[in-house]
Amino acid sequence: MKCPYCGSLEDKVVDSRSSEDGSFIRRRRLCNNCGERYTTFEKIETIELMVIKKNGTREIFDRDKIRRGIMRACEKRNVTSDQIEGLVKDVEQALVSSMQKEISSEKIGELIMAKLKDIDKVAYVRFASVYREFKDVDTFMDELKKIITDK
Ligand SMILES: [Zn+2]
Repeated sequence: MKCPYCGSLEDKVVDSRSSEDGSFIRRRRLCNNCGERYTTFEKIETIELMVIKKNGTREIFDRDKIRRGIMRACEKRNVTSDQIEGLVKDVEQALVSSMQKEISSEKIGELIMAKLKDIDKVAYVRFASVYREFKDVDTFMDELKKIITDK
C-alpha cells in the first residue's frame, strides 16, 4: 500500500480486523519509511467476473461502475438509493447465478434495462440512449414507441 504521508510502498500491517458484516477488512499499517500509521479498508470481492467490452477488451466486473451508470440515468427521478442498490444487487445476483466466467457488457446492459424499465420509464430511456448509443433521432423514437406500446 502506498503511504499517504510519504508515498513509500514499504509497510507493515500492525492490526487487521473485519467489519461487522464481514464485507471489508480494516488494516492498520505502519510505514517502514516514515513511521506514520494509516488505515486501509479492503473490500472483499464477492464476484469474479470478466466483462467483455464492445471493442473486445476485457475488464473485471465493477459493481460501482454499474451503480454510477444507473444513478446517472435516475438523476432527478423519483428513484430511491435503496431501489438503485436493489437493482445493482439483482443484476449481480443474476450474473453470479448464470455461473459464467465472462459476460459481454451488452448482456449486462440488457439486464439493467429490463429491470430499470419496471422502476422508472424515463430512467430507462436515458440509460438505453447512453447504452445503445442511439445514432439518430429515429432509433431513439423507435425505442420510445416500444416503451409506450409496452404499457
Ligand atoms: Zn510513509
